[in-house]
Amino acid sequence: MAVKALIMTGIEDRVAQGVEPGIFPDERGRFGVFGGRYVPEGLMAALLNLEAEYLLARADSSFVTELHDLLRDRAGRPTLLHRVPNFARTLQVPGLSVYLKREDMAHTGAHKINNAMGQGLLARRMGKSRIVAETGAGQHGVAVATVCAMLGLDCVIYMGAADMRRQESNVIRMQLLGAELRAVHHGGGGLKAAISESVRDWVANVDTTHYLFGTAAGPAPYPRIVRDFQTVIGNEARSQCLESEGRLPDYVLACVGGGSNAIGLFHAFLEDPQVRLIGVEAAGRGIETGDHAATLAAGSPGEMDGSYSYVLHDEDGQIARTWSIAAGLDYPGVGPELSYYKDTGRVSCRAATDAVALRGLQTLSRSEGIIAALESAHAVGHLVELAERAELPPDSLVVVGISGRGDKDLATAAQQLGHRGG
Ligand SMILES: *Cc1c(COP(=O)(O)O)cnc(C)c1O
Repeated sequence: MAVKALIMTGIEDRVAQGVEPGIFPDERGRFGVFGGRYVPEGLMAALLNLEAEYLLARADSSFVTELHDLLRDRAGRPTLLHRVPNFARTLQVPGLSVYLKREDMAHTGAHKINNAMGQGLLARRMGKSRIVAETGAGQHGVAVATVCAMLGLDCVIYMGAADMRRQESNVIRMQLLGAELRAVHHGGGGLKAAISESVRDWVANVDTTHYLFGTAAGPAPYPRIVRDFQTVIGNEARSQCLESEGRLPDYVLACVGGGSNAIGLFHAFLEDPQVRLIGVEAAGRGIETGDHAATLAAGSPGEMDGSYSYVLHDEDGQIARTWSIAAGLDYPGVGPELSYYKDTGRVSCRAATDAVALRGLQTLSRSEGIIAALESAHAVGHLVELAERAELPPDSLVVVGISGRGDKDLATAAQQLGHRGG
């Protein structure tokens, strides 16, 4: 297949093949019972306007072409799908073939650039000159600041004060890229407070400003917009796998935080029932300890951040505090579309502990020379576990999403592996 078709934003080439995976969400922004818009009146108009503008952009071939060209020329797409035979050998499953989808090789080192570029271009098309975004670990903020620098947009990033102290190198990156950082001190100084501040700013400045949300969650239309901009991952992987192996994979694994890299990789395979889709969340110190972020595996449906979805609640029914060694997975919610596929059984929801992720990180680093992000290492570690439990049949063909690179995690890894005598 031509490279051009490989890196389309998603829907066009699949429609051309007679497959329309975009049946979701419905006109109310719902995936089954999940999703919707649980927001104050003041936000509703902004969301509905964004949805209308997005649908126009999506139907406009000049927008689709411009995004495709930007992803190719400035973000390094398509990313590699390559075989990792040394790693596969360590799993000791006869005939096993493992491929990695290398989002870590995209510009800025993670999949988040796909969504940031899509929404940045959308903002410019809508005549907006200013972007606001929240960031927790700083990865989304870096992707947004990068795209704003490229497209000449003003950039304001809200970040919890506590997060700013923990993620100093990303703070410096964002500042170098010309973003204005605004520290949020209330509400614990974390991601949740940063989201509220971004929304407040957006509503107050909606004529000039686009709110660039970072994962496939939140109120409609964000889960769908972010998913669409991330489906490029799976569309490429599907074509690349067919090209290399002449068949589809048996298993596709991805880590799940808010769910954007996972739904982006899974989406192209939804209509292929023989392909098993496995989402791997953070089991932290173990689900039984309560210190985890396994929302799909251990949560229950509820309303959070403007949408109805699986959520982690504590004993009093409040949003639970979470823990993961991977900052990008440390979130008590998850997007509505994955919530829906959990309930239908289309996506199998698993969780990997910090220790399993660290093993995944080490095994892949040593066998192949690839240092994955700790988030991605959850998917790698879970695959190692599946092999050990003899749950992978001989001759299986597996694709693992490597959502990002591990440079940001070196201090954490050193500390953890040091303690463990690794
Ligand atoms: C942010 C991040 C994640 C988690 O976000 P999703 O929306 O679930 O994809 C995973 N991996 C990396 C490298 C990240 O930066």
